[in-house]
Amino acid sequence: MIDSPILPEELDALPAVLEQAGIEGGAVGRRPASRAPRHFQSRLSGLLATHGDWDHLLGRVAFPEASLGCAQSTSQRLLGAPGEAQRELRAFDEEYYLQRQPLMLGQLQELPVPGRLAIGPHELELHPAAGHTCDGMAIWIPWARVLVAGDYLSAIEIPFFGEGRGTLNAYQATLQRLRPLVQTAAYVVPGHGPALNGERALALLEEDLAYLSSLAEHGADAQLPAARRTASQRRLHSENLSALSSAPG
Ligand SMILES: [Zn+2]
Repeated sequence: MIDSPILPEELDALPAVLEQAGIEGGAVGRRPASRAPRHFQSRLSGLLATHGDWDHLLGRVAFPEASLGCAQSTSQRLLGAPGEAQRELRAFDEEYYLQRQPLMLGQLQELPVPGRLAIGPHELELHPAAGHTCDGMAIWIPWARVLVAGDYLSAIEIPFFGEGRGTLNAYQATLQRLRPLVQTAAYVVPGHGPALNGERALALLEEDLAYLSSLAEHGADAQLPAARRTASQRRLHSENLSALSSAPG
């Protein structure tokens, strides 16, 4: 499983969702004794997080025993800011009146990026993806031609780096690096918003690059991508601007 949903009910539902797909997950032991064990075609092999933002790190809430793999840059970021993900989750929960146990991240499995990760008979490709934050990776699933992009290529969120997080240059470089993958992808699955077919994702990638160059050139007057001009996207736009004005040089 890559990244995670965030609401307690969604996380509770995950083991059953996997079971319905014929995948044995973390539901063992929680299953009522009266129900005969199912025949599973495969087993959950582990969790991955594309980057260290709290809303991508909750997989262990659903599968406490699974290992959580992330880019070396992500584990370093998390070690360098202990308790940050927990604090941000708490702030989110307070805002939306949600109650749950404190988040325990536990041990992380550090993955070299760029690199490959064996999964059953296959291999995932891990590509560096800093820019939105200072850390992270995008995951290419070659046998399915699917790119799991983390917080890039979202149809509902503008490119966002924000102060103290990522940088405009790194964001542009990541999009350029992802372009050849997007060009051959059947689907791109972003962290927020719907999955996109390759053609739509490529159009979005060019739109995002256009926004970023317009931001570099025109600052506050930069044009936001046409379908993403909501109040909350304008707020992200102004956070990008303050990141630019406080960046050294
Ligand atoms: Zn996110």
